Amino acid sequence: MKKTFRNITGTFDILPEKYRADGTEIASSAAWQAVEAVIREVMARFHAQEIRTPILEPTELIARGVGLLTDIVSKEMFAFERGDTHYVLRPELTAPVMRAYLQHHLDQRGGVQKLYYIGPCFRAERPQKGRYRQFHQFGGEVIGSEDPRADAEVIAMMTAVYRAFGLTEMTLRLNTLGDEGSRPRYREALQAYFRPYAADLSETSRRRLETNPLRILDTKDERERRLLAEAPRLIEYVDEESRAHYETLKGLLGDLGIPFLEDPFLVRGLDYYTRTAFELESPHLGAQSALGGGGRYDLLARELGSKKPVPAVGFAAGIERLFMALAAQGVTMPEAAPPPDVFLVALGDEAARWAFAEAQRLRDEGLRTALDLRGRSMKAQMREANRQGAPFTLIVGKDELERRQAVVKEMASGEQSEVPFEDLIRILRDKIAAGAS
Ligand code: AMP
Repeated sequence: MKKTFRNITGTFDILPEKYRADGTEIASSAAWQAVEAVIREVMARFHAQEIRTPILEPTELIARGVGLLTDIVSKEMFAFERGDTHYVLRPELTAPVMRAYLQHHLDQRGGVQKLYYIGPCFRAERPQKGRYRQFHQFGGEVIGSEDPRADAEVIAMMTAVYRAFGLTEMTLRLNTLGDEGSRPRYREALQAYFRPYAADLSETSRRRLETNPLRILDTKDERERRLLAEAPRLIEYVDEESRAHYETLKGLLGDLGIPFLEDPFLVRGLDYYTRTAFELESPHLGAQSALGGGGRYDLLARELGSKKPVPAVGFAAGIERLFMALAAQGVTMPEAAPPPDVFLVALGDEAARWAFAEAQRLRDEGLRTALDLRGRSMKAQMREANRQGAPFTLIVGKDELERRQAVVKEMASGEQSEVPFEDLIRILRDKIAAGAS
């Protein structure tokens, strides 16, 4: 038997029409385009500008400090080597965007840089509902301001996207992580608290207790969550300035009418986060409830070799999760691309030749034009025009060709008229415009 091929588990094809795969609905390419258009439009309202970075990045950019080919790289990322270079398929875009910002001296454009992106990311996770190996993120970064207004702006950007879709049922969780010194102090306090319970912890949490105890706070384990209730709170270890920053941010969100819930155990896993951390959750997503999240990352630029500190704050959100939330709240998106404006039906070889050339002329004039590519009968061509949903057909046979006229048929009413070739574009345009209004 011949070998057949399937897409890699944890990835999916986006087709002209929606379909179901592994119990999940995959939206049509038209719906993806529509969603991306809304994201772009909302980002433009904030005067955020798009940045596109490569999908391939040097592994060291993502796995700084943890050492190459450690657990994180081999288990959570798609990484490989060619010669002396270590490559990774980007698992996120914050580090790539900051790399580009530093590399191209974007600070020299002046002012605060507001950048947004839309694109695929890759994580070597166990695929499950809402969790893929290739998924898509949109996100925004505000680089060059340490003011809490920048944090509020980022949160406003993120929430505006969901509002633009009419999505309202979601929770914004908010916390402050303090400055560079806060977390080491808190980490020690957490370790001191959990060590006596080490035997009760899951294997993962026991390992994290020594390597990254803050991640224990994300635990879903019931017993560990009970232990958390008595655990020390990050806020007690946060410096004065960060507390003031947090208070101002909460005030600003209040001014914007953006509701939030303070979550003292919300920490973003990565070391370069400072001060603000947030996550947006939907009650409709089941176990993978995070629509998106983000925070302030004032330490990242220095980690990437910048001599100057570069204050920055950003968010990243999953587009697959956005689709799940849209479906759950009954927001409909276009199911397929629009039909052709006109379908050319030709009878006989000569007419078919004329139609083939005429199609190019109509397309050059901006009309969505389709025609038969298989030399089929007139009846089959009419059927195809109907199937594609073309509002108008343009019918040409030998007689019409001789008279240099085409029959324009309005499919809905069946109404037909003869139009001289030289008037075709003008008349079709008028009819299409009238049909659209
Ligand atoms: P993170 O950087 O992990 O906070 O990811 C930001 C957002 O991307 C999450 O809130 C999810 O919406 C989405 N996301 C992250 N990982 C995946 C994945 N494996 N599959 C689908 N979406 C994801």
